[in-house]
Amino acid sequence: MSVRPAAKRSRIPEHKHCPICGLPMAVDADFCGESCRKTHEERLRRERRARNFSLLMYIAIMLMLFLFLFVPPLLQR
Ligand SMILES: [Zn+2]
Repeated sequence: MSVRPAAKRSRIPEHKHCPICGLPMAVDADFCGESCRKTHEERLRRERRARNFSLLMYIAIMLMLFLFLFVPPLLQR
């Protein structure tokens, strides 16, 4: 994403960019700093929660379908 000239880029020692903010950082690091690590963990947690929620919704819908399809006499009374 950076617009560095190619000649300059080749002189930069091996490095990679922080997946959160895009800043250059050490190759063996996962994030540039503690705040980005927290941001990443928060993102992961939110994703996991969203997945759990959609799974729950799926189960709830299946249960509702089951009730409406197989227990109609109870509902009609
Ligand atoms: Zn960062």
